[in-house]
Amino acid sequence: MARIPAYKELINTRLANTYGGWIYCEGCNKTIGYLCYVTYDLFRFDYRCKCGNCGSVHLVFERQSTEQTSSEQSLITIKNRLCCPEDKSPLATILEKNLASYKYEISCKTCNTKYQVE
Ligand SMILES: [Zn+2]
Ligand SMILES: [Zn+2]
Repeated sequence: MARIPAYKELINTRLANTYGGWIYCEGCNKTIGYLCYVTYDLFRFDYRCKCGNCGSVHLVFERQSTEQTSSEQSLITIKNRLCCPEDKSPLATILEKNLASYKYEISCKTCNTKYQVE
């Protein structure tokens, strides 16, 4: 089922596919992460690449349900993929070795919970 994003903004960053896939830094063309297509409702990623480029990704889908809860919990890592601790939905991968610094916010579509890492 096709989903329509309510908001999409990419700064100095390239996505392999329209709403997900590999994330590339436009400064050095290196892979800096991976975003799963169908499991998130919101993804906001700000980073500074080791090449010096600063960039960001901001994608938001219309939410089906109204309430979104924020969780203090951390995402869990399963096979290099950051996953929702509630339902184990795979959400994203951040390739820390290519990044000088980063922060992100991601919400899981399945349980409507938002996770934040600064
Ligand atoms: Zn770079
Ligand atoms: Zn979840």
